[in-house]
Amino acid sequence: MTEKTASHPSTQLIHHGYTPPADFQAPQPGIFKASTVFFPNVAAMRQREWKDKSAYTYGTHGTPSSFILEERLCTLEGGKHCVLTPSGLSALAVAAFAVLKTGDHVLLPDNSYGPNKSLAEGELQAFGITHTYYDALNPQDLMAKLRANTKMVWLEAPGSVSMEFPDLLQLVRICKDRSVVTALDNTWGAGLAFKPFDLTGDGSLSVDLTAHALTKYPSGGGDVLMGSVMTRDDDLALKLKLTMMRLGICVGPNDVETILRSLPTITLRYEAQDQAARKLAAWWKNQTACVQVMHPAIEGSPGHANWQALCAPNGGQGLAAGLFSVMLSPKLQQKQVDSFCDTLNLFRIGYSWGGPVSLVVPYDIASMRSEWPSHLQAGYLVRFSTGFESPTDLIADLQQAVTHCLNI
Ligand SMILES: *Cc1c(COP(=O)(O)O)cnc(C)c1O
Repeated sequence: MTEKTASHPSTQLIHHGYTPPADFQAPQPGIFKASTVFFPNVAAMRQREWKDKSAYTYGTHGTPSSFILEERLCTLEGGKHCVLTPSGLSALAVAAFAVLKTGDHVLLPDNSYGPNKSLAEGELQAFGITHTYYDALNPQDLMAKLRANTKMVWLEAPGSVSMEFPDLLQLVRICKDRSVVTALDNTWGAGLAFKPFDLTGDGSLSVDLTAHALTKYPSGGGDVLMGSVMTRDDDLALKLKLTMMRLGICVGPNDVETILRSLPTITLRYEAQDQAARKLAAWWKNQTACVQVMHPAIEGSPGHANWQALCAPNGGQGLAAGLFSVMLSPKLQQKQVDSFCDTLNLFRIGYSWGGPVSLVVPYDIASMRSEWPSHLQAGYLVRFSTGFESPTDLIADLQQAVTHCLNI
């Protein structure tokens, strides 16, 4: 029916017959919104398949917009299949639910993203899935903790807060030898610092899954939450899609639009925030209040050689994101550290990273680890992430706050 055959304006407007000319081209793809998707006839309704992206059936199963973002992210990280989730944490959850079942065991690095540990201690444990934490800097420890029922090993390079860079190649090889699914939280690397599906550059070593908080670098705005899970394995991809379908997990097209809009500048933003973080980390090395700098690209940082081997194999500068932590002297008091954070003007206090505003968070490592890691000096850990402010202004801000608050 078109507006010509209906008499009532509501009907005319709902069944409007105008179609704009095809072949509209512009820098960004169009955004498609739907819960309902129309089928031309019943036969098509019965035949259409969404799992291989050959057609559309319902909003939760994908739109041209979500398919485009998934494909572009596959290009970025080197995957073959991708699913989009409403946050980075939900990406970690979808990966776990797709792979694990009651009776299975999962290993997580002791320095992993905290909420992933909470998921293991909460829902996974309640569903009869056990977990153990391993020392990411000690491949022997991972080897010793693999059990007959270990089905999945989480990897993170580097660790979220203390920034240790593991020997990822060795950890993945150990898991491959035992046919255990390897899942990398690739939020830090973002597909830029190293290639998770081609770790050695010759196609011989790959993780099975990556999960990525698109909230961070792909967004770059500090204003949207989204995650992805990616794989090159067809069977794992089907498991992921079925888990997503059964849990009803999907993302909104307006959020997809913001990520699509940001992706063309991700390399420029990542490099700029990396350069700024290196300048700030180097500045901290000369401060008496600071006893240790944790930044994978900086000499002496825990796992620096592992970072070099993976991210700068030919001796170049490599890439290292815009994130680092410092250990402030144990001679200070907690209230001095807190007032240092409060006294910063340009660095705002807040979680996440990758957005325009530089951020600072003090962390209580003792409460986050089974024991104090031997490679960390005693003291107060403070994490910084660089935004897009001028590094000169950021250093001046650090200087004034150090002068006011961190006298030893
Ligand atoms: C931020 C982050 C997540 C979670 O992402 P959200 O979108 O905030 O849920 C997961 N892993 C790492 C390493 C992160 O930094």
